[in-house]
Amino acid sequence: MDIKDRILVVEDDKSIRNFFRTILEANNYDVIMADTGAEAYSMITSQCPDVVILDLGLPDMDGIKILKSVREWSSMPIIVVSARTHERDKVEALDLGADDYITKPFGTSELLARIRNAIRHVRASYLTPEGMQTGIFRSGGMVIDYDKHRVYIDGADANLTQNEYRLVSLLGRYAGKVLTYDFIIKEIWGPNMKTDNRILRVNMANIRRKIEKNPAQPRYIFTEVGVGYRIVDPD
Ligand code: CA
Repeated sequence: MDIKDRILVVEDDKSIRNFFRTILEANNYDVIMADTGAEAYSMITSQCPDVVILDLGLPDMDGIKILKSVREWSSMPIIVVSARTHERDKVEALDLGADDYITKPFGTSELLARIRNAIRHVRASYLTPEGMQTGIFRSGGMVIDYDKHRVYIDGADANLTQNEYRLVSLLGRYAGKVLTYDFIIKEIWGPNMKTDNRILRVNMANIRRKIEKNPAQPRYIFTEVGVGYRIVDPD
């Protein structure tokens, strides 16, 4: 008997709930449902889901409230799925600790990929303490060698500077997750750095010149406009 990952879907819309149940059960997940924030709270604490899929517009509260309070005691993966498409809403959810943000409507394969990534990421973080990443990240022609502190493109050293390397390796460590500008700046330049996206944009432009064939159409590091950056999924 195999062990299934348990997914809690917090969603009040009946047709979307049915969609989630059908898709997730077909992909061998154990699915539990909550249609209010209060119910979600009690299921999170009593059922210990492996992943929470969280709608923000709930009948009794804003899903953001659940995100905030769970993050006070747990790093369980939480994927926000919302009809709110404004950048501000994405940034808020990600900065409050959401692992990912999916905008409705969304495709099945996108949803499943995000769930796999969230689970993989949290498992990897159990194994390696933050900042102590070792081994190799590989996607297509790009290799991040965490031991040598080098990035290779099609076998050739990309010659990144120290900060450029730290930026790429940070994205690699959180593959599958959008990192907000604020988070990246604090990780790379420290908590006292003023949140100024310009320094980050300049660094990213330099990185792209070194690692992308066509920096205007990146294959490895993607911009989430107004939100932050995401690295390509590993092979
Ligand atoms: Ca809703």
